[in-house]
Amino acid sequence: MKQLRGMFLEELSSEIVELGEKKFRAKQVNDWVVKGVSDFDQMKNISKGLKELLKDNFILNNMSIVRSQKSKDGTIKYLMKLHDNHVIESVLMKYKHGNTLCVSTQVGCRMGCSFCASTIGGKARDLSAGEILGQVYEAQNDTGEKVSNIVLMGSGEPLDNYDEVLKFIRLVNDENNLNISMRNITLSTCGIVPEIRKLMKEKLQITLAISLHAVDNGKRDNLIPVNKKYPIEELLETCKDYVKETGRRITFEYSLIEGENDSVAEAEKLAKLLRGMLCHVNLIPINPVREKKYKASKSQSVNKFRDALKRKGIEATVRRELGQDIDAACGQLRKSYLDDVE
Ligand code: SAH
Repeated sequence: MKQLRGMFLEELSSEIVELGEKKFRAKQVNDWVVKGVSDFDQMKNISKGLKELLKDNFILNNMSIVRSQKSKDGTIKYLMKLHDNHVIESVLMKYKHGNTLCVSTQVGCRMGCSFCASTIGGKARDLSAGEILGQVYEAQNDTGEKVSNIVLMGSGEPLDNYDEVLKFIRLVNDENNLNISMRNITLSTCGIVPEIRKLMKEKLQITLAISLHAVDNGKRDNLIPVNKKYPIEELLETCKDYVKETGRRITFEYSLIEGENDSVAEAEKLAKLLRGMLCHVNLIPINPVREKKYKASKSQSVNKFRDALKRKGIEATVRRELGQDIDAACGQLRKSYLDDVE
């Protein structure tokens, strides 16, 4: 059966017409789907007959929240169960400018980054556009508040699930769907060069974030294995082309690990690498993961790193860490859940 979540209105219209119903019904059904209802019986202006038809032909409720953790700062971490019992994480962060939801794009991940909890059990499967969108509907339902910003920074590598991720971005931006501005969407990647090249041709107004985390290939190979295939020089060349092609500023993510990548010399090298590029650096002390050996940089080293970048003319901010009192690092809540049930 097809999932109702994750369909453009035009797709739904042709499905509804094929079932022998009037086309305008599709808009009514679509409005309910976008409201995030989880049960066909909640669709008030839909006839009993059409509801039965929908029940026989479509899945509406493609996930449910099985656990959530709320932080003192308002951050909520959700664990959502999919129809095949896989679980994924999403995180809602409250900022003055609105609610940001961090969504997962895959069940697990196969990129193998050495500091990341999402990759520990490998990748189970890709998420469909409707399952990425479902995370937004569920979070909105749970809080009764709108999500205004989306970051594709949960579990999974978005560019390793290109088609569904692009469909999600276009859907969530669609005026018949949540109508979230492209400018309020950030896609984060560990640096899959051919897919970044493909993405730049789409000329979307989204923000591209690159997980850099190191300035020389030896270290980056160890942290982010995909670097062996697409080394730093090639990645940064691609980023320069991306900026030229889209006119959009790139964000570089740099997680600081004590004694590993946090020296002032490395900050200076980073500034040199990024010189002349329309970009911004986000610094974040690494979130220690139980299974991994890394320690977060001290706030003094973080500030020194930031100041060194600024001295060389590179914009940099230290990201405020939200949700420190809950399982904050990527994939940790899912991991602790799986450890419990297995
Ligand atoms: N696969 C994508 C998006 C998911 S991870 C990517 O690699 O960009 C989102 C960000 O969190 C990435 O920058 C990732 O490197 C970083 N990250 C993962 N585990 C982390 C940890 N334990 N501490 C700090 N940042 C982490």
